[in-house]
Amino acid sequence: MSIDLPPLRALIAEHGLGADKSFGQHFLLDLNLTAKIASLAGDLSGKTVIEIGPGPGGLTRALLAAGPEKMIAVEMDRRFIPALEVTGEAFPAPLDIVEGDALTVDDAALAGPGAVIASNLPYNVGTALLIKWLRAEPVWWDTAVLMFQREVADRVVARPGEKAYGRLAVITAARATALLALKVPARAFTPPPKVESAVVVLHPLPVDRRFTDITALETITESAFGQRRKMLRSSLKTAAAKAGTSAEALLSEAGIEPTARAETIAPEGFMELARAWRAARG
Ligand code: SAM
Repeated sequence: MSIDLPPLRALIAEHGLGADKSFGQHFLLDLNLTAKIASLAGDLSGKTVIEIGPGPGGLTRALLAAGPEKMIAVEMDRRFIPALEVTGEAFPAPLDIVEGDALTVDDAALAGPGAVIASNLPYNVGTALLIKWLRAEPVWWDTAVLMFQREVADRVVARPGEKAYGRLAVITAARATALLALKVPARAFTPPPKVESAVVVLHPLPVDRRFTDITALETITESAFGQRRKMLRSSLKTAAAKAGTSAEALLSEAGIEPTARAETIAPEGFMELARAWRAARG
C-alpha cells in the first residue's frame, strides 16, 4: 500500500463524501477487510480489474495494492471522482475512472477478456448486475468477487431443497460456479446497512458446460418458481403455453416427474426443461 495516500476517513472529510442513500452507499473503511476481499480474487498480476461503485476507494486501494496490470472503476456518483484520481496516482497500475451507470456501460469493452470483476455492490442493482454478467456472451470475465446483502448471496449459491433455492441459483449454476466466501456483519460498513452482507466468488463454467439459452431458462424458472409450492405439471402451464405445448410434454421430454416441485429439481433439470421449451417454441 502506498504511503502517499491520506487515510480514507480524511479523504472522505476533505472531499465532503458523506454517504448518499439514493446511491446505496455503505463504505468499507477497514483496510484489513478490503485486503481480505481483494485477496479472494486470487493473483491479480497481469490482470485487468474492473470495480463497480468504488465510492471513496477503500476496496480500490486494496485491489491496486494487489498489483493488477490495469484497473477500471465505474462510479455513478461524480462526487467521488477527484478522490479516486488521487488514489489512482499513488499506485503503479493505471486506474481508468469511468463516470457512468454500471447497468448500461459496455463493461466487456472497457475491461476486455479475462478480466476480474470486483464490487461492494450497490444493493439496489446487485441482482441486475449479476444477471448482466452471467448473461454476457461471449463471457469476458474470469473471476467475480461480489458483495451482496446476505439474503441475495444465499439465493445465488443455494442448492435444491434449500429455502433460498430459486431462479437466481438456477441461472447462476447454468453459467458459473459460485461460492459464498465471506460473511460480513453490518457494522463493518459506514454507515451500517440494516442487514448482513456476504461476498460471493464466481467463475464462469468452461464453455462446453455453459448453458446458452438464458431467455428460455428464465421463462421456465419464472413459471416454475412463480408458484413454487405447486407441482410442475401445474406451475409450468404458463411457460408451456408460450411455446404452444403442454407442461406434461415438457416434463416428459426432460425426464422429470409431473408431480415434482420446483424446489427439488437440480439446475440441470431446468436446463433440460429450457431445451425442451426451446425445441417446442422453435
Ligand atoms: N466500493 C465502496 C466501498 O466498498 O466502500 C462503495 C460501495 S457502496 C455499497 C456502492 C457504490 O456504488 C457507491 O459508491 C455508489 O455511488 C455506486 N453506485 C450505485 N449505483 C451505481 C451504478 N448503477 N453504477 C455505478 N456505480 C453505482
